[in-house]
Amino acid sequence: MIDSIKHVAITGGTHGNELTGVYLIKHWLSSPNEVKRDSFSTELHFANPAANKEVRRYIDQDLNRQFNLQDLKNPELKGCEQQRAKSLNEILGPKEDPRVDFIIDMHTTTANMGMSIIFNANDPLIIGMAFYIKQKMPHANLFYEPSDRLQDNFLTSMGRLSGLLIEVGPIAQGLLNHEIYSETHTAVMHALDYIEKTNSGQTIALPKQMAGYQFIEKIPLPENTEGDITAMVHPNLQNKDYHAIKPGDPLFITLSGETIPYEGDTTVYGAFINEAAYYDQNIGLSFMEKVDIILADNDQ
Ligand SMILES: [Zn+2]
Repeated sequence: MIDSIKHVAITGGTHGNELTGVYLIKHWLSSPNEVKRDSFSTELHFANPAANKEVRRYIDQDLNRQFNLQDLKNPELKGCEQQRAKSLNEILGPKEDPRVDFIIDMHTTTANMGMSIIFNANDPLIIGMAFYIKQKMPHANLFYEPSDRLQDNFLTSMGRLSGLLIEVGPIAQGLLNHEIYSETHTAVMHALDYIEKTNSGQTIALPKQMAGYQFIEKIPLPENTEGDITAMVHPNLQNKDYHAIKPGDPLFITLSGETIPYEGDTTVYGAFINEAAYYDQNIGLSFMEKVDIILADNDQ
């Protein structure tokens, strides 16, 4: 059985230039009844105020890669986000035995990923929540990236249960767009409603399986020996997140116009295609595989 969730944290601005989550937190701080439910407490946090003040993704490091247990315990890591991660470990954690049960972290992407529900654990509660949101928002994409909670470096891994990352796009960095804001708002409401229903023992009719995508790997942009990129995402692939990429399909196009095809031998699916934030590491996209996500019985 899933034991009940008592403390939920909603976080926004983990990436300081993703304003949707920041302004939803501001909104809920002034309208707390929207996130209030009877069976658990909800707390609201600006995850990275320093980066948010400068409308930058991060000051020193990507905050959403700083939460694995070893790094949180490493006194040598003193960058802005490394210190912020340690503060959040005190506020929400400690990671080994967190005070907060569940974290919903709000993000946006410049890629054409629509509503993506990203989760890292094959746990009936999280899979059930993802299914529930997809039932209410059928256009949502289920994005599964398995990882062990203590090793996981995402903020969502700071709860007692591995949490939920809501990723909505496309939107440029540093912008608000009402459609994206409203979509994110709706998804968070469904997530909270789901916890409320499971806490109060309500039976929720959910399918046993739903189609989703499982992360395989990040694909670098072609670069020269100096580390300069020499090609960009191919126009046929641009905005085609969650579409099939078959062997031989165009992946990149060089500065002089030469197509670089996908040379793998299995069909994959793209996500985070031409994500602006990934240019700091010359990443062009992520490869995903299409999978059936299975909801195990709660009482197993
Ligand atoms: Zn983000």
